Amino acid sequence: EAVKATEEPPRMPPTSAVRVSRKSVAPHEINKVGKRTSCFIKPSEVQTKRGKFGEASRPNQKFYEMIQVFRETLEYIPISSTDVVEPYRICVCVRKRPLNKQEVGRKEIDVVSIPGKGKLLVHEPKHKVDLTKYLDNQVFHFDYSFDETAANDLVYRFTAKPLVQSIFDGCMATCFAYGQTGSGKTHTMGGDFTGKQQNSAKGIYALAAQDVFAYLGNRKYSNLDLSAYVSFFEIYNGKVYDLLNKKAKLRVLEDDRQQVQVVGLEEVFVTAAEDVIKMIQAGSACRTSGQTSANANSSRSHAILQIVLRRNDRNNTLHGKFSLVDLAGNERGTDVSSNDRSTLVETAEINRSLLALKECIRSLGKNSDHIPFRMSTLTKVLRDSFIGEKSRTCMIAMVSPGMASCEYTMNTLRYADRVKELNGNSKANG
Ligand code: ADP
Ligand code: MG
Repeated sequence: EAVKATEEPPRMPPTSAVRVSRKSVAPHEINKVGKRTSCFIKPSEVQTKRGKFGEASRPNQKFYEMIQVFRETLEYIPISSTDVVEPYRICVCVRKRPLNKQEVGRKEIDVVSIPGKGKLLVHEPKHKVDLTKYLDNQVFHFDYSFDETAANDLVYRFTAKPLVQSIFDGCMATCFAYGQTGSGKTHTMGGDFTGKQQNSAKGIYALAAQDVFAYLGNRKYSNLDLSAYVSFFEIYNGKVYDLLNKKAKLRVLEDDRQQVQVVGLEEVFVTAAEDVIKMIQAGSACRTSGQTSANANSSRSHAILQIVLRRNDRNNTLHGKFSLVDLAGNERGTDVSSNDRSTLVETAEINRSLLALKECIRSLGKNSDHIPFRMSTLTKVLRDSFIGEKSRTCMIAMVSPGMASCEYTMNTLRYADRVKELNGNSKANG
């Protein structure tokens, strides 16, 4: 019995450039294109296949078994360091973190599968009107997909590393970590935590800094006579705070030529990756974090690390800039227990900036003249990274694997999907 796929948001009429992305499919159709049916396994069938001894060993045993049955039909070719790194102008990829200790402890079900080749499936547990269980298997395609075994350096290799190269060629690059609180944004950008201690040397920030200094020392670029500078700031409730200067509150000004400036932002001259790592550690320690009951460390601010290349001339002319952004959690204000006024204001501001970000990247992808950067402080301060031929961007959408996060995961994936619906102009020239 075929079950209708879940409702999709209205989409543009298909053109040759539209990506075929979201589909709901049955297991035997997983390698075909264009079919839209759901996997429906009758509980009795699962019973004969597994679980002969009746007793369910976890809260959603049936769904667990259905997903396991489905997974047996998947062909896994995980991304590896020998795969080709494509020179995307806009790159959108997804990273799934492993189930954490608590989730394993309460036998949470992993509902996300990453067979490789940019593909990702969400096995959304659903009930029919007569309460029979079925899986709504949604398929997404991104430029790259990283499963729970992928380490930061592998993710870095395909996402931020090509952008480091690009700023030496004069580009304005941005790399965003997007996703629900707890999905792995800070782990990816700032480095993994062992207890309260962040291992800052293993995050994309530090890996990018290392490569910047490697390229600076490279003969190919030495005639450019460049120096590296670092800024680190956060945007909380639309206001900018300097993480390298005791969280000084800074003004964002736009001049009559639409150039945006963060007035008084510290830009520190750096000569080694260790300098940058120390700054990341000091800056991260003073970040603003809200106290939603979902996650005490939840971050409600965007953190932006900028690595700036300047020529060693009289004006220190800007040559290239890389902005690495650990975005605020994208979860909506559905947590009723913490819906006090300040949380609502925070949430509205975060939603606005994430919407603005999506629109700006989409405009970039369409080579549009109109970039709606004024919609938020985030897009204002990144304005020069959204215009022209020299812009490069990468978004890493982070997802939590658990069934409890399924709805958030779907929201994250839909957003990432919309960021790059058009495939036509996504590759950089040359
Ligand atoms: P976010 O910044 O999105 O709120 P974090 O980066 O703080 O989420 O991650 C939440 C928790 O999950 C942290 O304890 C982190 O160490 C862990 N974690 C995240 N991603 C991974 C991963 N890929 N592998 C192992 N642990 C991870
Ligand atoms: Mg975080």
